[in-house]
Amino acid sequence: MKDYVESFLELLYPEKNTCFFCETHDEAICDRYICKDCERTMKKIVPPICIKCSKPIDLNSHEELCSDCRKHDHSFEMSRSVFFYEGTVKKGIYLFKYYNKPYFYRFFGKCLVDFMEDTSYGRFNLVVPVPLHRSKLRKRGYNQSELLARYISNKTDMPYGDVLKRIKKTPKQSQVTKEDRRKNLINAFDVKKSMAGLLTGKNVLLVDDVFTTGSTADECSKTLIKNGASKVYVITIAR
Ligand SMILES: [Zn+2]
Ligand SMILES: [Zn+2]
Repeated sequence: MKDYVESFLELLYPEKNTCFFCETHDEAICDRYICKDCERTMKKIVPPICIKCSKPIDLNSHEELCSDCRKHDHSFEMSRSVFFYEGTVKKGIYLFKYYNKPYFYRFFGKCLVDFMEDTSYGRFNLVVPVPLHRSKLRKRGYNQSELLARYISNKTDMPYGDVLKRIKKTPKQSQVTKEDRRKNLINAFDVKKSMAGLLTGKNVLLVDDVFTTGSTADECSKTLIKNGASKVYVITIAR
């Protein structure tokens, strides 16, 4: 499906064979959007990881859960992230969100789809993005999580559903403590009225750019389950 949004985004693309991350020009880049040097610096998360939140755990640990997940339960079934949130990945996500470079969804979307295939993350009844508050959406012009969720849906043939809305404006989450972050997000989401019946019995894939404390994923999952969803699985670019 090549819709209006996608055709519009294509106008913003950098020139062919240009690395999205460092803007180097190299014929070898083709349709991979990244040069070899930048790709080498991206650190993937590999097992052993917490079965719940995918935080790396000690090689010698006999626990299946990380220390965070042993203390606090999550509303989602499990969450997986492809990369560590640092270096090139962090820079790329920053450009994607704050520098009007929506086309990054192509690179990161492919990373998510490849990861889901490689790890057999499963089939889901609905792919749902974490929503932005409408004032933020107006300012940014696009929701990066929506672009990623649409990409996953297109490539995997799993239905897309923009069912959530953000009803509470929250301060920039990176500037607050973990506990304040959790409190700020309580009741921050709701299901769109027109979509209310859509969730019954569904296994949902919730898509976001970054997993930090899990508060956003938890609150969205809680809202989805309260409105009939059966289970929520989370995927993010990085954590
Ligand atoms: Zn590069
Ligand atoms: Zn964990």
